[in-house]
Amino acid sequence: MSYADFEARMARINDVICAVNLLGWDARTMMPPGGIDARGHQVATLTDLARDLATGEDMRRAMDGARDELASAPGDDIRRRALARAEAEIGTLSRIPSRIVSEMAGLKTRAHAAWAEARAKNDFAGYAPLLDRMMAMQREISAAIGGGVHPYDPLIGMYEPGMNYQRLQTIYARLKSALVPLIERAAAAPQPRMDFLERPFPIAEQKAFGLKIAARMGYDLNRGRLDDTVHPFEISFTRDDVRITSRFRETWAPGGIFALWHEAGHGMYEQGVAPEFSRTIFATDIVNLYAVGGASFGMHESQSRLWENRVGRSRRFWALHFGDLRDRFPAQLADVTEEAFWRAVNAVRPGFIRVEADELTYDMHIILRSEIEAALMAGDLGVADLPAVWAEKMRDYLGLAVPSDTLGVLQDVHWSHGYVGSFPTYTIGNIMSSQLFAKAQESGAIATGLEAGDYAPLHGWLAENVYRHGRSSTPEETLHRVTGGGLDPAPYIADLTAKVEALT
Ligand code: ZN
Repeated sequence: MSYADFEARMARINDVICAVNLLGWDARTMMPPGGIDARGHQVATLTDLARDLATGEDMRRAMDGARDELASAPGDDIRRRALARAEAEIGTLSRIPSRIVSEMAGLKTRAHAAWAEARAKNDFAGYAPLLDRMMAMQREISAAIGGGVHPYDPLIGMYEPGMNYQRLQTIYARLKSALVPLIERAAAAPQPRMDFLERPFPIAEQKAFGLKIAARMGYDLNRGRLDDTVHPFEISFTRDDVRITSRFRETWAPGGIFALWHEAGHGMYEQGVAPEFSRTIFATDIVNLYAVGGASFGMHESQSRLWENRVGRSRRFWALHFGDLRDRFPAQLADVTEEAFWRAVNAVRPGFIRVEADELTYDMHIILRSEIEAALMAGDLGVADLPAVWAEKMRDYLGLAVPSDTLGVLQDVHWSHGYVGSFPTYTIGNIMSSQLFAKAQESGAIATGLEAGDYAPLHGWLAENVYRHGRSSTPEETLHRVTGGGLDPAPYIADLTAKVEALT
């Protein structure tokens, strides 16, 4: 058994989970509702197959052979890095007992159905027993993976390698102290005009505008495509087929186009992974059995938020592109200025729903969820007490009285799927997006390009510094290499402060 055997086995795993991704894309875009049960079996079978291939004896022997072969290779040989990464990820995957894996598969289906019904009926009590079981399973998974100081740490590490709750708490404290006064200041200022966003904007023209800009940003439609869905997402089956979805509504134009640019940001990352990393461990997340080239969930989110918010919600961006939008919608935007449009798409309004939150209040929704997840994992909080704690934190962080559990603790799908520890990656992504964008703008060519609506220099810089590395660097290594330091909320806080100053 040799390194080549290890690579061949890893390529087969990647092929299987790329096929799972494709089945998932189909289920969320094209599949008729009746296909759901059969599709569930197909995904479960292929995911089990990928797990068996990763944790089986043949892979272990291939890795032993590869290790022997590389014994005399230089320390910085990329093959050593690939092998070490595979060993670590397969180790984590192997520590989760098959008893838990199979119970989780059935539990997810039942919990998702119970969650959807509870949300529709505002009946938290009806969902609580399954949620309680799900949280117990998550504590078991955390204990099985092990490591870390806090029981939340192993779960955070599944999505953001190297991160832990202690570091997050330090970041959250800084964000809270900066964001709360900014939110108050923005909320106290006169609300911008938003009436025109409710006018009918024909969807085909919204898509044409959004896609034209996405292509200008660097999303390659020869290796990508856009489809409609309920909850927008990006998914890849190698760098050569990276699909995005959005949800367009005729009467709320910016929702669809900003979601499109968000997903295009994810898509450009996947399309930019070095070709030689295709079908390797550097384009494969073994812990989550997911085909992806991005270094972590947080680093991925940094790329979507960078294009959506740092570029797409800037004053400069609308100074450049509002004319095109108004040419497409002359009647709808006849009485709207470029400045009014920019203000409308940056309006700050504390609300109950995370996915509808503006840039300023978004992280408070994440901090609330993350603190609750940590308390649940530590056993400091029981599921029965969730609605009360949720309401208390919404009052403290956003000054809102939660009217129902549907608009509170029941709004997110994540927990019903067993995703505990993934919420923090949204805030980590926001922070990284500002760090990377600040560094990029130090380049004269990038700054000049942004002023002229030429996004090629920025795209090229991201491709060179972030995209092409795939999963061969950890998020922290990438940040150090590019910015000279680790995760630091200061540039993000500076961006949001500048935004509120411009808006008020
Ligand atoms: Zn995203």
